[in-house]
Amino acid sequence: MANAALPADHANSIAARLASVRASIVAAARAADREPAAIELVAVGKTYGADTMIEAIEAGQRVFGENRVQEAAGKWPALKARWPDVRLHLIGPLQTNKVKDVIGLVDMLQTLDRESLALALVKARDKGDRLPDLLVQVNTGREPQKAGIPPEGVDAFLARCRDEWSLSISGLMCIPPAEEPPALHFALLREIARRHGLRHLSMGMSGDYPTAIRFGATMVRVGSAIFGSRAPADPAV
Ligand SMILES: *Cc1c(COP(=O)(O)O)cnc(C)c1O
Repeated sequence: MANAALPADHANSIAARLASVRASIVAAARAADREPAAIELVAVGKTYGADTMIEAIEAGQRVFGENRVQEAAGKWPALKARWPDVRLHLIGPLQTNKVKDVIGLVDMLQTLDRESLALALVKARDKGDRLPDLLVQVNTGREPQKAGIPPEGVDAFLARCRDEWSLSISGLMCIPPAEEPPALHFALLREIARRHGLRHLSMGMSGDYPTAIRFGATMVRVGSAIFGSRAPADPAV
């Protein structure tokens, strides 16, 4: 995407990096015989401020992800008021006592990862709140420190969402173990979604989104490839 005729700061702009990520998404989709429009780019803006988000919005980006409720609540209400078609996804853990803070702020919650959170959502809905769209987070690597339903528990969890709680689930999300090749995890998530007829697969980050697209991702969550690397202290996932 970099154009040699342009000054270097332009080539490194958020608009240029977004264009480059979008081009890679199109290329990966075509290589997998998929429709590029079937893959949504979720731009992960965590640790970056509102000015940086505005650059991305002005470059045409409309779907964003944040992993902390507090940061999302500080940054996005004003931006969403100014650009009503912007959509925000929560991609990090949600405490049950923070459910009320995401109602009306978040359009999709990608991290429904346990029964207590499902019950808190049901409670909010039964009080009249409109819930965000929901993805179930699957801990495909069964990592003890990572959130998510273990693969062998997903069938039962989805059944309870449907039959006991009447929660409509749009799809699945996973964060594969950092030290393993992600392909097997993507394949596992795709297989579970297929079995349940779920439409959305949120998988793939800056380092592996082309692979995720090959395995059927409908949403890729890309941060550093668009906004630059974050401070090392940031607990990314
Ligand atoms: C930070 C984060 C991402 C984006 O990671 P990059 O490697 O910067 O693209 C994706 N998903 C989740 C859950 C994250 O917390």
